[in-house]
Amino acid sequence: MCTLPSMKITRYGEPCPLCRTPLFLDVLQVRSAQSGFPTTERVTRRRCPGCQATRPEQWTEVMQSRYGDA
Ligand SMILES: [Zn+2]
Repeated sequence: MCTLPSMKITRYGEPCPLCRTPLFLDVLQVRSAQSGFPTTERVTRRRCPGCQATRPEQWTEVMQSRYGDA
C-alpha cells in the first residue's frame, strides 16, 4: 500500500448560492512524490458558516441539488 503525500487546505471558492459570500472549500491536494507539486485536487467539503448556522435546512437542500452532497 503506497501512500502519496497529501495535504488538506482551505480556500475561498465560488459565492454561496444563498448569501453570495465566498464559500470555504476544504480541498485535498495529492502531491507527486517526485516533484512535490499537486497532481490531484479534490474538494471534500463546501462550507458557509453563516448559512450553516442560520438556515441549515436550506443549506443542505441547496448543496444537495447543486453538488449532490452536503
Ligand atoms: Zn451562505
